[in-house]
Amino acid sequence: MSNSEKLFAEAREVMPGGVNSPVRAFGSVGGIPPFMVGAKGAYLTDADGKEYVDLVCSWGPALLGHSHPAIQAAVHAAVDRGLSFGASTPDEAKLGQLIKNRMGGVERLRMVSTGTEATMTAVRLARGFTGRELIIKFSGCYHGHLDGLLADAGSGVATLALPGSAGVTAATAAETLVLPYNDRAAVQAAFAEHGSNIAAVITESAPCNMGVVTPEEGFNKFLKDTTAQHGALLILDEVLTGFRASDAGYWGLTGRVEGWNADLYTFGKVIGGGLPTAALGGRAEVMDYLAPLGPVYQAGTLSGNPVAMAAGIAQLENATDEVYSFLAKQSAALQDAITSAFNAEGLDHSIQRAGTLFSVAFGTSANGVHNYADAQKQEAFRYAPFFHSMLDSGVYLPPSVFEAWFVSAAHDDAALDRIISALPAAAKAAAA
Ligand code: PLP
Repeated sequence: MSNSEKLFAEAREVMPGGVNSPVRAFGSVGGIPPFMVGAKGAYLTDADGKEYVDLVCSWGPALLGHSHPAIQAAVHAAVDRGLSFGASTPDEAKLGQLIKNRMGGVERLRMVSTGTEATMTAVRLARGFTGRELIIKFSGCYHGHLDGLLADAGSGVATLALPGSAGVTAATAAETLVLPYNDRAAVQAAFAEHGSNIAAVITESAPCNMGVVTPEEGFNKFLKDTTAQHGALLILDEVLTGFRASDAGYWGLTGRVEGWNADLYTFGKVIGGGLPTAALGGRAEVMDYLAPLGPVYQAGTLSGNPVAMAAGIAQLENATDEVYSFLAKQSAALQDAITSAFNAEGLDHSIQRAGTLFSVAFGTSANGVHNYADAQKQEAFRYAPFFHSMLDSGVYLPPSVFEAWFVSAAHDDAALDRIISALPAAAKAAAA
């Protein structure tokens, strides 16, 4: 029995499914998940001493690579000053300012601890600000595990092929209108019918939790214009794409270029540098509806935790233009290598892109993947053999076809070569 097998058996005695987040259980790809004991640069090491090139990057936070020296040093120094003060600390505004400087229309921020908290608060705030009840979300988008947004959600909900979650009341579910992604007519119809009671549209800035789906040209701007026209808010969820798809998230590739801002944004992952931090931000007029200034309540014992703030500051200070150019280059090289390996096996596929983020979809080249229905129609069964062949060769991919692949600034040519040399056998396994 391997060490990971032993550890997984022990974990199952203590935690449901042996995990603290469902996708880690390898449910859709099968097998025993390797338990990790170390992470450095582009590599993970498991409990049996096997090394993997990591294309999960902690599901996004490891933008600079694991255990980046600047982040480690900042965290060690912060630990030495104290772990948590339960009072305001200087670094909260400093991290806030770094975020504000990169994003259009972020006039105020509130730090929270997880992406779920950020979207949950953004939704409550949108309702409090507008005095309306309904929220529009899109099928296949994942915004964390708050009750109201689990319907037809992506990520683990998609991986486990669930329509939503048990435990969500019918009344809560009825307050969310779920529409097909990239479908302007559906959005217009929803506003035509319910316009005066729609508080907000929430959308992933580019969906990455049904696999990556590129927003059609101008789709986010259309959402901004439509919400504005009807007195509703646009909540752009940049938890995954933020400071990763580009220096200013996916908004940097759309709103910044097209000249519009969201009313509210949510951030997470990258801004915590690997520690639990997230944030919501946006127009001052809306954000000031939060307590203590306004009537919308929100709070958190560990919000703005000083160690997490130090990690986030070090991450964003080191996320330079060169880092983003490098990520774009390495990500494109990897995409080309995947296409070559798949083509060599005659494997029909499409590469789905959002800035430096991407994922693969099987059997989709004719029409591409524009929404969740397209993503669900793909030949998903090809992913498990592909995944396991890569894993055997020492490449750690997301254990679900519905997740994005993450490269980091530490994925140098040597790391890429390891991935590229594993691809032919994996493509063969997928094609079988
Ligand atoms: N929003 C998006 C787009 C996400 O991808 C995620 C997590 O993957 C979340 C929100 C929730 O973040 P967290 O897992 O930190 O609660």
